[in-house]
Amino acid sequence: MIAPLTDPLLDRAASLIRDSRAGLAFTGAGISVESGIPHFRGAGGLWTQFDPYKVASIGEFRRDPAQYWTYSRNHRRTGAAPNPAHLALVDLQRAGHLRAVITQNTDGLHQKAGSTDVIELHGSSHAVECLDCERTYPRDRIDQLNRQQSPPLCPGCGGRFLKPTVVLFGESLPAQPLQHAQALAEAADLVLIVGSSLQVYPAAGIPRLAREHGAQLCIVNAEPTPFDRMAAVVIHGRAGEVLPAIASRTIPSAG
Ligand code: NAD
Ligand code: ZN
Repeated sequence: MIAPLTDPLLDRAASLIRDSRAGLAFTGAGISVESGIPHFRGAGGLWTQFDPYKVASIGEFRRDPAQYWTYSRNHRRTGAAPNPAHLALVDLQRAGHLRAVITQNTDGLHQKAGSTDVIELHGSSHAVECLDCERTYPRDRIDQLNRQQSPPLCPGCGGRFLKPTVVLFGESLPAQPLQHAQALAEAADLVLIVGSSLQVYPAAGIPRLAREHGAQLCIVNAEPTPFDRMAAVVIHGRAGEVLPAIASRTIPSAG
């Protein structure tokens, strides 16, 4: 049960964002739930139905890539569109309140909405790499092959290990986006956290690092998180409702 939005919390969030000079957004799967993409942890999350170590670990992928691609064929949502939460972040960034959007999501919806300087900590589900020859392919092309045969085979070398660039359990995060995010976090004065359980590391270390360097945290999430007690403002609600309300208070012309 989500508590009704109260104006003082929204006003406080808006004033923090308005006063910041080096703001960041940090987003997780919860921001895309209202676009029809399920999140992992917490009420209604995918991990209440599937074992993450079976469908999303590099060890299982290398053992049996067909299992991964069969799951993908049956469960992958295509054609998702950005929702009002993604669009509110675009408005905040265009108004000069956010330097970058650091995301754990792999769905590409921030870029589709129009955000710039999007840092993907966990890779992208739209790009597929061959682990044998390192060629990369657009996901649509490999999805098409996967409809004929699982696992799809690399068009370049015939290898069986075509993998979306998403970071699976057991893999490290790509170094360059992580370092970029860390540098931004050290310089940030505010992090607007949206739709993340803040339980997945090293990603959750980014807002923590920002906090250690003096940034204020503003959290918008459906459920409590372990960071709530360090935050200046915590709003428990749906991102698609809360973020437009914050944006319209921050930039009077938005929404
Ligand atoms: P998570 O699944 O651990 O947590 C999502 C959080 O969002 C939960 O705490 C939940 O209460 C909250 N939430 C659910 N619906 C919401 C809504 N409408 N508004 C606001 N909050 C809502 O997600 P995470 O913290 O991003 O970490 C999980 C990992 O899963 C990440 O590594 C990410 O790469 C990956 N993932 C990505 C996608 C995607 O690309 N859309 C989807 C699922 C998982
Ligand atoms: Zn190949």
